Amino acid sequence: MLIVKKFGGTSVADKERIMNVAKRCIRDYQEGNDVVVVLSAMGKQTDVLIDMAKDINPTPSKRELDMLLSTGEQTSVALMAMAMATFKIPAISLNAFQVAMHTTSAYGSARLKRIDTERIRHELDQRKIVIITGFQGVNKYDDVTTLGRGGSDTTAVALAAALHADTCEIFTDVDGVYTADPRIVKKARKLKEITYDEMLDLATLGAGVLHNRSVEMAKKYGVQLVVRSSLNEEEGTVVKEDVRVERMLVSGVAADRNVTRISLVGLKDVPGIAFKVFDVLGKANVNVDMILQSIGRHGTKDITFTVPGDASDDALGALEKNKDVLGYEELSINREVAKVSIVGAGMMSNPGVAAKMFEALYNSRININMISTSEIRVTVLIDVKEVDKAVNAIHDMFELED
Ligand code: ASP
Ligand code: MG
Repeated sequence: MLIVKKFGGTSVADKERIMNVAKRCIRDYQEGNDVVVVLSAMGKQTDVLIDMAKDINPTPSKRELDMLLSTGEQTSVALMAMAMATFKIPAISLNAFQVAMHTTSAYGSARLKRIDTERIRHELDQRKIVIITGFQGVNKYDDVTTLGRGGSDTTAVALAAALHADTCEIFTDVDGVYTADPRIVKKARKLKEITYDEMLDLATLGAGVLHNRSVEMAKKYGVQLVVRSSLNEEEGTVVKEDVRVERMLVSGVAADRNVTRISLVGLKDVPGIAFKVFDVLGKANVNVDMILQSIGRHGTKDITFTVPGDASDDALGALEKNKDVLGYEELSINREVAKVSIVGAGMMSNPGVAAKMFEALYNSRININMISTSEIRVTVLIDVKEVDKAVNAIHDMFELED
């Protein structure tokens, strides 16, 4: 078997954990498998490097920032190869340039385009464990790029796809994917399996277990993932295409507090206004999520929408700068909101799921600001202070507990 194993920052945070990960990989190797290991930077090293950069220059060039950040992963792969050597196991570390993991040129948010597999194959054929830097790539200028925060998951999935691996295990500091954040919901339960689509929604909606691009890629190339803990031997959660006969109505409840709501009041009720508003935001690189347009009155209408909290200043700036073109009377902004979502492939064939969620919120007297839905998801916008209460009430309502 060819096994790709990815370990996140907490799993390689110190010497003891690095040794522990080394042993775990060696076990698979000694059973006769080909083992490819993908690592993140140790602990919070990426944050440390970002702080160092900002301390020298508050607005560092993206190219130089990637050059700097890529050293975090390079440190962990080299140390891991040294750790394995202490057990007399042949191992070799490779960075993105040595493998040749080709990406687009966008520093800080590059996308993987192609991975050369010759070098990796060659090392595996020599019966070595191959340890590869996550999160980084190389662009057409031969510069180092990074894939965006959390990008090591994507590196692992891309490698699993390129090498036609038999399995891709993502090791993290939690046991798997839960029905809700166990820190908020005491009764949260670990899922045995979940579909790509459900996982994609959960990843995007704030269940920070997997990088959402990694799930997109796993679905596209049919790479089956296992999410499990590096700190114990628990089985974890399998992420795959749906093969279950009986789909769960709801697989999980997720909360995202990184949300801001913006309302434009008194816009002209004529064609082209929505286009202008969202064009301005698009050009400012702001991702818009939920959108609500009120029914026109006296020739005016209101448009309300949400943006990621960390993009709210960019959104605000762009809208204020274009006030005359857009012609709104008033702009209001609320940062004290959060999105709570339920996700489940079974929703597609079962009516009444949304009503049940709303009933849970009503029973707890929680007011809903906005609603949006997709085939397998219902999202509500509520007051950020009520998130914990809401998530628990919904979790209880759908009886997702152990
Ligand atoms: N080290 C990078 C980060 O912290 C990539 C990763 O851990 O996946 O974002
Ligand atoms: Mg991560």
